[in-house]
Amino acid sequence: MPIAPCCVLLALCFLDYLIKLPSSQIASKALKESHLLCLTNRISWLSDLDYALQIVSNCTLSLPPLSQLNSDKICMLSASLTNYVWTSLELKIHQNRCLYLFHHCLEPFANGSFFHIHSMLCHYLIQVTVPAHCKSLTNLLFGESIFYTISHYGVSDDGRQCRMCHMHVESPEHAILQCASNL
Ligand SMILES: [Zn+2]
Repeated sequence: MPIAPCCVLLALCFLDYLIKLPSSQIASKALKESHLLCLTNRISWLSDLDYALQIVSNCTLSLPPLSQLNSDKICMLSASLTNYVWTSLELKIHQNRCLYLFHHCLEPFANGSFFHIHSMLCHYLIQVTVPAHCKSLTNLLFGESIFYTISHYGVSDDGRQCRMCHMHVESPEHAILQCASNL
């Protein structure tokens, strides 16, 4: 099962909590025992966390020895992991032709400015009240519209003039949302 980056981030938060505990606390003692197991190349919670961190960051990040860990370093690790995940996600989106609606997509702010976001586009679904329309919109955004396979298969933009209005390229988003002749 793939390791979710959010689980590693949560474990890093827990590690930050653990290193701040007084040494008399059982959890703090357990952390030190886990560190000792690490030093003797045995499987432990810390070695598992290090392994998970390396897997989700494609070996760009690893856990320093316990003696070198502090809140600032854990915070930096979390930030680096988050940045790596967003960068990887962005790359995958740009490499996927079906997700072209997300390429360089800018979302409007309330003040009229625009910004780029990587995820959490659920606000589209909140604004749509009909469940079937939510499904259609999700299919459209993720390139799973039936119009996508029809209109994009081996046909250039010039050869895909809208059959309804004859004015625009017949893209899935045009057919479903924009074409004035298809109302
Ligand atoms: Zn049209």
